[in-house]
Amino acid sequence: MMTTAKIRQILNKRGLKVTPQRAVIMDFMMRTHSHPSAEAIYEAVKDALPGLSKGTLYNVLNTLVDANILNTVVLEPGAIRYDANVSNHHHFIDMDTGQIHDIPWDRVQNLFNAPGEGFCVADYQVNFYGVMAQNSPKRPKPEQP
Ligand SMILES: [Zn+2]
Repeated sequence: MMTTAKIRQILNKRGLKVTPQRAVIMDFMMRTHSHPSAEAIYEAVKDALPGLSKGTLYNVLNTLVDANILNTVVLEPGAIRYDANVSNHHHFIDMDTGQIHDIPWDRVQNLFNAPGEGFCVADYQVNFYGVMAQNSPKRPKPEQP
Protein backbone atom coordinates (compact mmCIF):
# COMPACT_ATOMS: atom_id res chain seq x y z
CA MET A 1 0.00 0.00 0.00
CA MET A 2 1.17 3.44 -0.86
CA THR A 3 1.96 5.43 2.27
CA THR A 4 -1.08 7.09 3.72
CA ALA A 5 1.02 10.24 4.13
CA LYS A 6 1.67 10.43 0.38
CA ILE A 7 -2.01 9.93 -0.49
CA ARG A 8 -3.02 12.47 2.18
CA GLN A 9 -0.55 14.95 0.68
CA ILE A 10 -1.92 14.53 -2.88
CA LEU A 11 -5.56 14.86 -1.75
CA ASN A 12 -4.89 17.80 0.58
CA LYS A 13 -3.00 19.66 -2.14
CA ARG A 14 -6.22 19.57 -4.18
CA GLY A 15 -8.46 20.48 -1.26
CA LEU A 16 -9.92 16.99 -0.88
CA LYS A 17 -10.50 15.10 2.37
CA VAL A 18 -8.94 11.68 2.84
CA THR A 19 -11.66 9.02 2.89
CA PRO A 20 -11.03 5.26 3.05
CA GLN A 21 -12.60 4.91 -0.42
CA ARG A 22 -10.37 7.58 -1.98
CA ALA A 23 -7.25 6.18 -0.26
CA VAL A 24 -7.81 2.56 -1.35
CA ILE A 25 -8.81 3.46 -4.93
CA MET A 26 -5.83 5.83 -5.29
CA ASP A 27 -3.48 3.22 -3.89
CA PHE A 28 -4.70 0.68 -6.45
CA MET A 29 -4.57 3.15 -9.36
CA MET A 30 -1.06 4.33 -8.54
CA ARG A 31 0.25 0.77 -8.53
CA THR A 32 -1.43 -0.45 -11.73
CA HIS A 33 -0.39 0.36 -15.28
CA SER A 34 -3.31 -1.51 -16.83
CA HIS A 35 -5.69 1.43 -17.48
CA PRO A 36 -8.59 -0.40 -15.80
CA SER A 37 -12.31 0.14 -16.39
CA ALA A 38 -14.53 1.13 -13.43
CA GLU A 39 -15.71 -2.49 -13.36
CA ALA A 40 -12.12 -3.77 -13.05
CA ILE A 41 -11.36 -1.20 -10.33
CA TYR A 42 -14.46 -2.34 -8.44
CA GLU A 43 -13.31 -5.98 -8.60
CA ALA A 44 -9.82 -4.99 -7.40
CA VAL A 45 -10.87 -2.89 -4.38
CA LYS A 46 -14.16 -4.44 -3.23
CA ASP A 47 -12.49 -6.74 -0.67
CA ALA A 48 -10.63 -3.81 0.90
CA LEU A 49 -13.81 -1.71 0.93
CA PRO A 50 -16.70 -3.89 2.09
CA GLY A 51 -20.04 -2.33 1.21
CA LEU A 52 -18.64 -0.18 -1.58
CA SER A 53 -21.43 0.60 -4.04
CA LYS A 54 -20.91 1.21 -7.74
CA GLY A 55 -22.41 4.66 -7.24
CA THR A 56 -19.82 5.54 -4.60
CA LEU A 57 -17.06 4.15 -6.81
CA TYR A 58 -18.15 6.36 -9.71
CA ASN A 59 -18.39 9.37 -7.37
CA VAL A 60 -14.83 8.77 -6.13
CA LEU A 61 -13.51 8.27 -9.68
CA ASN A 62 -15.24 11.44 -10.90
CA THR A 63 -13.84 13.40 -7.95
CA LEU A 64 -10.30 12.14 -8.63
CA VAL A 65 -10.65 12.92 -12.36
CA ASP A 66 -11.99 16.42 -11.61
CA ALA A 67 -9.00 16.96 -9.27
CA ASN A 68 -6.62 15.84 -12.03
CA ILE A 69 -5.38 12.93 -9.92
CA LEU A 70 -6.68 10.47 -12.51
CA ASN A 71 -7.11 10.77 -16.25
CA THR A 72 -9.70 9.09 -18.43
CA VAL A 73 -9.00 7.27 -21.67
CA VAL A 74 -12.02 6.94 -23.95
CA LEU A 75 -11.51 3.91 -26.18
CA GLU A 76 -14.93 4.20 -27.79
CA PRO A 77 -18.10 5.99 -26.68
CA GLY A 78 -19.10 4.52 -23.32
CA ALA A 79 -15.87 2.58 -22.77
CA ILE A 80 -13.94 4.68 -20.28
CA ARG A 81 -10.69 3.53 -18.73
CA TYR A 82 -8.87 5.23 -15.85
CA ASP A 83 -5.21 6.20 -15.80
CA ALA A 84 -3.09 7.44 -12.87
CA ASN A 85 -0.55 8.80 -15.34
CA VAL A 86 -1.85 12.35 -15.77
CA SER A 87 1.07 13.62 -17.80
CA ASN A 88 0.40 14.11 -21.54
CA HIS A 89 0.75 10.83 -23.39
CA HIS A 90 -0.94 8.69 -26.02
CA HIS A 91 -2.03 5.04 -26.00
CA PHE A 92 -1.49 1.87 -27.97
CA ILE A 93 -4.35 -0.61 -27.67
CA ASP A 94 -3.30 -4.21 -28.31
CA MET A 95 -6.17 -5.75 -30.27
CA ASP A 96 -5.03 -9.27 -29.32
CA THR A 97 -4.93 -8.84 -25.56
CA GLY A 98 -6.84 -5.59 -24.94
CA GLN A 99 -3.83 -4.26 -23.03
CA ILE A 100 -3.22 -0.52 -23.19
CA HIS A 101 0.34 0.78 -23.38
CA ASP A 102 1.47 4.36 -22.80
CA ILE A 103 3.09 6.05 -25.79
CA PRO A 104 5.31 9.07 -25.04
CA TRP A 105 3.77 12.42 -25.99
CA ASP A 106 6.70 13.47 -28.19
CA ARG A 107 6.41 10.37 -30.42
CA VAL A 108 3.49 12.09 -32.14
CA GLN A 109 4.19 15.40 -33.83
CA ASN A 110 2.37 18.46 -32.61
CA LEU A 111 -1.25 18.08 -33.71
CA PHE A 112 -2.75 21.22 -32.15
CA ASN A 113 -3.17 22.81 -35.57
CA ALA A 114 -4.10 19.60 -37.40
CA PRO A 115 -7.89 20.17 -37.50
CA GLY A 116 -7.31 23.41 -39.44
CA GLU A 117 -8.20 27.05 -39.17
CA GLY A 118 -11.03 27.94 -36.82
CA PHE A 119 -10.58 24.94 -34.54
CA CYS A 120 -9.00 26.02 -31.25
CA VAL A 121 -7.71 22.72 -29.88
CA ALA A 122 -7.38 22.65 -26.07
CA ASP A 123 -6.26 19.06 -25.75
CA TYR A 124 -5.98 15.83 -27.70
CA GLN A 125 -5.06 12.22 -27.23
CA VAL A 126 -4.17 9.68 -29.90
CA ASN A 127 -5.18 6.02 -29.61
CA PHE A 128 -3.23 3.57 -31.77
CA TYR A 129 -4.84 0.17 -32.40
CA GLY A 130 -2.75 -2.83 -33.38
CA VAL A 131 -0.88 -5.86 -32.08
CA MET A 132 2.48 -6.23 -30.32
CA ALA A 133 5.36 -7.65 -32.37
CA GLN A 134 6.18 -11.29 -31.57
CA ASN A 135 9.54 -10.32 -30.04
CA SER A 136 8.29 -7.31 -28.05
CA PRO A 137 9.23 -7.37 -24.36
CA LYS A 138 5.79 -5.85 -23.69
CA ARG A 139 4.05 -8.91 -25.12
CA PRO A 140 2.60 -11.04 -22.31
CA LYS A 141 4.54 -14.25 -21.77
CA PRO A 142 2.61 -17.45 -22.54
CA GLU A 143 1.52 -19.22 -19.37
CA GLN A 144 4.03 -21.83 -18.23
CA PRO A 145 2.48 -25.30 -17.72
ZN1 LIG B 1 -1.89 5.94 -20.07
